[in-house]
Amino acid sequence: MTNLVYLDNNATTKVDEKVLEAMLPYFKEEYANPSSMYNFAKTSSNAIVEARGIIKDFVNAKDEKEILFTSCGSESANTAIRGVLNYNKNKKHIITTKVEHPCVLNLYKTLEKQGYKVDYIGVNSNGELNLEELEAAINEDTALVSVMWANNETGVIYPIKKISEIIKSKNKETKFFVDAVQVAGKIPIDVQENGIDLLGISGHKFHAPKGIGALYVNSKTMITPLIIGGHQERGKRAGTENTPYIVGLAKAAQLAQDGLQYEITEVKRLRDKLESNILKRIYNARINTGIADRVPNTTNIGFEYIEGELILLHLSDLGICASSGSACTSGSLEPSHVLRAMNVPFTAIHGSIRWSLSRFTTEKEIDYVIEKLPGIIEKVTSISPYQKELQALKNLKNNTLS
Ligand code: PLP
Repeated sequence: MTNLVYLDNNATTKVDEKVLEAMLPYFKEEYANPSSMYNFAKTSSNAIVEARGIIKDFVNAKDEKEILFTSCGSESANTAIRGVLNYNKNKKHIITTKVEHPCVLNLYKTLEKQGYKVDYIGVNSNGELNLEELEAAINEDTALVSVMWANNETGVIYPIKKISEIIKSKNKETKFFVDAVQVAGKIPIDVQENGIDLLGISGHKFHAPKGIGALYVNSKTMITPLIIGGHQERGKRAGTENTPYIVGLAKAAQLAQDGLQYEITEVKRLRDKLESNILKRIYNARINTGIADRVPNTTNIGFEYIEGELILLHLSDLGICASSGSACTSGSLEPSHVLRAMNVPFTAIHGSIRWSLSRFTTEKEIDYVIEKLPGIIEKVTSISPYQKELQALKNLKNNTLS
């Protein structure tokens, strides 16, 4: 078995050993239901209180009561969006972007069928949001604006503070939900500084296990619960608390907070090294996001006139994991909705690969990819039906360099 080089950390991350260690006692000795009255339940209920405080600090909320634990980023988004809309049934207008994660976009498609009007804001060729379009779309009836903090496919960061200022200047009643799943552990999160009403995170994107997330709901924002039952999470999300996973989420948040500096210097340095070497060594490579501001761990690179899936298969044979933006729908390969919204040229859209690093990515792994990738691209390029176009591109690149 070849060594694993895992560069798909925007899909999921490995659980940090320290996170697992923190969780284990709550599977073994401390298994009590945290809502129980007896002393045996004290350790688990205290652990949840402590975890809530840690997540409150992680996003810089004002109060622990503003933090709900959920099962994942999708649940956080659904709770926030449906929660706000169901609480205030009079307003029927929503604004979002064309590049959101499917857990948000598909929910809006469902809501449209139920009578909501949804405006989808576009992006430019670097993936940056059109703020004028967003401002013009806000009206009296706008219940909610929802914008992701960073895009999962490109890593492009959206100007959350500016967006919240625009929203509040146009309609003070409009609520602002931010899907922060792809920024947790990559850049600082501050809900107060950025004027955010609701914000979702997901543990498995920053070295906690799959199956745990959190939602911030500021104290001035009312939501109708999605999951109705017991009194847990102050009646906003029923279900016996998942103590080990909540403890794991908090430990992961602490480690992520401590590692932020490393992320924005060292992880970024490795990402930039990978990117610049690919551009230098592979003539038909292009960075799909141009000069846009991005999270430190992500790059989305288009390889012109070739198929991304073929590149991924060759990479996989060498133990290298990355991903393409394509979603395989009903047997046909649909290019990513994000790259389509950016108008990435058709010559590059099918050959686009997302590389996403983590604090566990090593220099040796990046050097391995830099060594192996040119050969793979050459192999895939040699069977492309676009040989004339590729030769023209090569000549153009050579002329630019000489
Ligand atoms: N939002 C973004 C931006 C994501 O990248 C993802 C997962 O890929 C989600 C939401 C959904 O998170 P989860 O898998 O925890 O439901």
